[in-house]
Formats: sequence, structure tokens, C-alpha cells
Amino acid sequence: MLPIIDKQTRLLVIAPHPDDETISAGGLLQQVRDAGGDIRIWLLTDGDNNPWPQRWLERRVWIGAEGRRRWGMRRRREVVGALRTLGLAPEQLEGFSWPDMGLTRQLKTDHEAMLDLLGARLRAWRPNTVVLPDLGDHHPDHGVAHVLLRLALAREGLAPCLLTYLVHGGALAGAGDVLALSPGQQATKREAMESHTSQTALSGARMRQLVERPEVFTVLPGHWAAQGRQLPWQPASWLHPWLRLTVADGSGVRSWRWGDAPMLEDEARPTLRPEACAGPGPRFAKLHMDIPSPWIFDVWGWCELA
Ligand SMILES: [Zn+2]
Repeated sequence: MLPIIDKQTRLLVIAPHPDDETISAGGLLQQVRDAGGDIRIWLLTDGDNNPWPQRWLERRVWIGAEGRRRWGMRRRREVVGALRTLGLAPEQLEGFSWPDMGLTRQLKTDHEAMLDLLGARLRAWRPNTVVLPDLGDHHPDHGVAHVLLRLALAREGLAPCLLTYLVHGGALAGAGDVLALSPGQQATKREAMESHTSQTALSGARMRQLVERPEVFTVLPGHWAAQGRQLPWQPASWLHPWLRLTVADGSGVRSWRWGDAPMLEDEARPTLRPEACAGPGPRFAKLHMDIPSPWIFDVWGWCELA
């Protein structure tokens, strides 16, 4: 059941990219604002690694570092515009400017600094409701955003109500609670989406479809309930040389080639050895391909371990 929204609500919305705030919670943000609650939106990346819309709108093929920076600034202005339409002030947005399409890599190389920063912000803001991407979202920045927030909250000993949302991947449709929006709130949400002109220019129909979907949240713990140390994947053996397994928990982040990962032998399904995930919880594992690919979405993604 969704939490009660009132003036005690201290809502934190985690948006990996500009536009996630509107797609996932454009109605919820209005409802919390109208109830007199307080709101912060944390934007993890500036959405600057977004070459196809940029090529299209800027009429250029090559995009260098300066071009990416410019695109990120544009998208930051678009979020501010969307939030203004939703009745929020620019000061309610905080941008982290972490690498777009690079959050998983950064988790592996720099998780301490990431968790330190998130932890400091969480201690300062102390949300009682956190809206964050679903662990099962197929966009790699979304899945890892879930992992980062869960690890940071656990490290700070904070236990707000957690509501997850899914943007990419439809397998969970109908699995959560729908937030009912009034026709006026839906219209305002639609109008907010129009601020994201960098996205609507090339993919207008898709963006508008996303914004018309019901606002569905899963209250954690939900369908991704932790499942022991058994992994949900059995990849074909010919793929093994290209696969990596990553485990993230309260003791850090470890990564192995699939064939070198510490698994129990003689199990029907791949199962991690106890020492591979003995750190303080929560604990997560990800299976992914270790080769550059134009396909950006996760094939296997993350799971939560007990
Ligand atoms: Zn996103």
C-alpha cells in the first residue's frame, strides 16, 4: 500500500537522467507539494551521453567533450523547467553529474566516494519516503541507482519507505500500486514532459506514451525479495568467456569473470559461496557482458541476495 501523503512527507526522488523525475513521479510530486510536504530531486547524471537526439537537433555527427557538456547543461535546464511546471523550485533539484551510461563502471571503481557523498546528503536531508528505480529496470544506470541508494541508506542506518518505479522493461506491469492522478495532475505532468525538448524532438511519441502510463510504484520489499545465494541466471556455456559477475554489499564491490566467480560446486543452479557475499546487507549481484556493444540495455541485470 502506498504511504499517506501529508505535510510530514519528506520525499526524495532519485532520477538517473533528466526526464525520469517527470515520467516516474510527475503526479506524486504534485500531490506531495499540494499536501505541504517537502521534496528533493536528486539527478544522478546530466543525461549528456545521448548522442542520437544531439546529432539530430544540433545537425552534427561528431560530438566531443565540449558538445557533451553543452548537451548536459541543456538537459539540466529542461529538468528545471519541468519541475517549475510541477510547482517546484530549482533549489529542490540537486545534480550529481555522475557519468551518464557509466554509473555501473563508477560503482566498481569509486563506490566509496559515491556512497560517502550520498550518505552525507541523506544525513542532511533525512527523507521519510524515497522513490527510486526498480532493481529490475533494464537500463543499466537505473538498476545501479537502486543498488547505490539501498547501500547508502543501509550504511547510514536509515529506513525510509521505499517506492520503486520501472521505466525500461515491462515485465512488472501490474505488480505495484497505482497512484491515482486527477485529470488536472495528468495534464500538468504532460505539460512538464514538454520541457524535455531534447527528448521529445526525436522520440516524441515514445516519451508521450511513457508520460501517459499510470504511475505505478512497488513498496519494498516487493517482487525482488532476496533469494538466498542462488543466482537467477544460467547463461549458455558459449557465453561464459564474455561474462562478468559483480557483487555489491556493505563491504564493497567485487567482480569476477563468470568462470572464476566463487560458486558452490555440484549445485543444480549457480550458487555463490557464503564468503562471496558475507558483507553487511543489503547484497546485490549483477551478470553482464564484458564487451563493448551498441546495445545499451541489460540482458540479465541485477538480483538481490539474502
Ligand atoms: Zn533514465
